[in-house]
Amino acid sequence: MKKVSQYKITEIFESIQGEGVFTGKWVTFVRFYGCNLKCPFCDTQIDKYKRLTLTGIMKRVKELGNDIVVFTGGEPTIQIDLPLLRMFRKSKYQLHIESNGATECIANENGQLINKMFTMWHYFNWVTISPKYHNGYMLADVSSLERADEVKLLVDTKLSIEELKQRITEVREYFQNGTIFLQPIEASGHTEENTKYVYNLLRLLEHEKWDANVMLNIQIHKILNVR
Ligand code: SF4
Repeated sequence: MKKVSQYKITEIFESIQGEGVFTGKWVTFVRFYGCNLKCPFCDTQIDKYKRLTLTGIMKRVKELGNDIVVFTGGEPTIQIDLPLLRMFRKSKYQLHIESNGATECIANENGQLINKMFTMWHYFNWVTISPKYHNGYMLADVSSLERADEVKLLVDTKLSIEELKQRITEVREYFQNGTIFLQPIEASGHTEENTKYVYNLLRLLEHEKWDANVMLNIQIHKILNVR
């Protein structure tokens, strides 16, 4: 008998999209359990999950009834596979994903290592990549950035203007034209300190006419105190 795949899901819920170009849209979030990174500021490390089949996920998503479905995490690309994507494509949802872009590589039929998502990104209507940094090194890979519709960089007061420019330059090598959002880190709710700091960084960039398509991204759901 064929084994039915199960996915570790932290929660499926509806709320407004609080970030990026789709801010303010009412959406269904599918939060996948687990992440390949351990960012110190992470606000989504939830220990509990349920094992759901594809049918179980789809049932809950249909009950909530929103047109836009956002795969998030944790890091959703760890568990995402073709059956899941095909099912969502067939059901005509507008499918969005938020990923750190540091997706694992797998061997193709020739034994070459390729990004696991390389053949799957096109199933999404909107891809948000939020690269994370470790010791100054960007963890996102090229194919994720090339596919991105928007890029989100998390910022706090430790990041200097010179480091920020360096990060923007690295991202722009593979993501030439879209919007790069600077998001104040707000791990424990909305705080003004980081937001003001990001605002000042943006003023400096503007003053130098450095990159016209870098914007402020405040997590609206935290200001509204909703999920
Ligand atoms: S990539 Fe995102 S979900 Fe993963 S540890 Fe970092 S902040 Fe948390």
